[in-house]
Amino acid sequence: MGRIVLDQVSKKFGDVEVIPPLDLTIEDGEFAVFVGPSGCGKSTLLRMIAGLEDLTSGNIEIDSEVVTEVPPSKRGLAMVFQSYALYPHMTVRKNIGFPLRMEKMAPDEIDKRVEAAAQSLNLIDYLDRKPGQLSGGQRQRVAIGRAIVRDPSAFLFDEPLSNLDAALRVGMRLEISEMHERMQTTMIYVTHDQVEAMTMANKIVVLQAGVIEQVGSPLDLYHKPQNVFVAGFIGSPK
Ligand code: ADP
Ligand code: MG
Repeated sequence: MGRIVLDQVSKKFGDVEVIPPLDLTIEDGEFAVFVGPSGCGKSTLLRMIAGLEDLTSGNIEIDSEVVTEVPPSKRGLAMVFQSYALYPHMTVRKNIGFPLRMEKMAPDEIDKRVEAAAQSLNLIDYLDRKPGQLSGGQRQRVAIGRAIVRDPSAFLFDEPLSNLDAALRVGMRLEISEMHERMQTTMIYVTHDQVEAMTMANKIVVLQAGVIEQVGSPLDLYHKPQNVFVAGFIGSPK
């Protein structure tokens, strides 16, 4: 499960309409990438889906349920932020299990889930370490692990790799793509990086100034950009 539908969703900050009403459907299991220049509204859109930002108009449905008034923790989504704040004094095991301890899950069930998450993220040998003893990529994986343990119906990523150096970024891109292959869970991934969008997405949503310029597969966008903005942004010959 993890079908997300935006119906005439808009956002104003004060008098400024940063996102005019838009419609968008993300299918169950899709890897959707929101791409566009800085300030075009990618984070705002993602935060509205997560429930971290009110809508000015419209509705959001997750798996046919209207969630517009549902608080973030009850939407069944996992948000992975750019600045992955891990607890420095806690081990990897404690960091990954943290959301489950908050839910008062039984300790042996927590251990089982943490170990399964660590296994799938290649962290099983690092469970007793603290964040300070990990590389940047490993810390990023711990942050993802913390999202995975709750078994979300979709993952929301907001430029999760932009703090990493170039080499690490390529590796993490592959890891996130592989994670999607394995789990087949809906993922929405925000980036301003065209290469990231083109290499990771099933569905690319190109935004400019809060407006969807085009929705399509990487090949659609490459071969049939609908306008000059999309063509220029994707970098295909016009
Ligand atoms: P992106 O993630 O694509 O860089 P954002 O969604 O962060 O863009 O921002 C979209 C627009 O909304 C920008 O013009 C930004 O300045 C504005 N904005 C974002 N958050 C707020 C806020 N809390 N108050 C006022 N304006 C905001
Ligand atoms: Mg942003």
